[in-house]
Amino acid sequence: MKKILITGALGQIGSELTEKLRSTHGEDNIIASDIRRPENPSGIFEEVDVTREKEIYEIAKKYNVDTIIHLAALLSAKAEAFPKVAWEINMGGLVNALEAAKELNLKFFTPSSIGAFGPSTPKNNTPQDTLQRPTTMYGVNKVAGELLCDYYYSRFRVDTRGVRFPGLISYVTAPGGGTTDYAVEVYYEAVRNRVYTSYIAKGTHMDIMYMPDALDAIIQLMEADPAKLKHRNAFNITAMSAAPEHFTAAIRKHLPDFKMDYQVDPVRQGIAESWPDRINTDAAREEWGFEPVYDMDGMTSDMLEKVREKLK
Ligand code: NAD
Repeated sequence: MKKILITGALGQIGSELTEKLRSTHGEDNIIASDIRRPENPSGIFEEVDVTREKEIYEIAKKYNVDTIIHLAALLSAKAEAFPKVAWEINMGGLVNALEAAKELNLKFFTPSSIGAFGPSTPKNNTPQDTLQRPTTMYGVNKVAGELLCDYYYSRFRVDTRGVRFPGLISYVTAPGGGTTDYAVEVYYEAVRNRVYTSYIAKGTHMDIMYMPDALDAIIQLMEADPAKLKHRNAFNITAMSAAPEHFTAAIRKHLPDFKMDYQVDPVRQGIAESWPDRINTDAAREEWGFEPVYDMDGMTSDMLEKVREKLK
């Protein structure tokens, strides 16, 4: 990866990945793009709507990039509210990005999600290769996307790579309408008001990971020796399985008067219940050395410190 085009670069992942790659690869080698313009522009930015057939191709060609990191998407909760728009962005955008990679012979990364699993998937220690019958539009998009990326590799030899991200926790950019957004909001409300009302019910486990581990995983996989990759796309990765009460316990170590209330949102609760409790990450560990650093306590200390600074 020398010159990289990022789509959806203003989102939760893209905003931090862009900065990290600019610091390691040089300002001029990272082309950030999104359908909206940045509030505080810095570095090279291009307005790209991934659903327009040739826009990704044209910008990739203009800057002579060797890699596309495709992050533009509509996330799980939003996709349930606007399923047809989700199909157009998540599938239409992906095929346009893959076509650009094929035409220009580029390396390609895109994330799938734990949302690619469904109620009939084994819930605990969910294997890398298993039953995937998701019941959400987002999940349908993610399974189809995983298959499409495998297809572009086997049929056209496009160097496609990807992971199944769990819910990502971060403080730089607000999450974009996923089911695990509660796990970010909780830190802001803990610092502001010492109380958080969770829309996810007590006892509901989902996989999560702190953003620095997610960014390292993308870079590590993209730099991995292709000869060692038996899977290429959709590697299961996670750092921990957590339910709302685990956040309460970890936050109380810093803010003893913190309280969690519950007002369950049936839509997002339904999505959460259709997902695994804890996925198995052996393939990612064995094939490219995935090794997350942050656990619940490490993540919580860092999040509380950074959120406090942000809210000052
Ligand atoms: P996000 O919602 O924060 O950001 C998505 C970005 O895409 C936004 O900046 C949005 O403006 C842009 N976008 C939307 N429609 C577009 C279009 N037509 N053309 C160009 N840009 C468009 O999402 P994120 O959390 O950064 O997620 C990035 C990827 O990672 C997605 O594929 C998502 O499914 C996946 N993922 C994220 C998480 C998570 O917890 N954040 C978990 C699993 C998988």
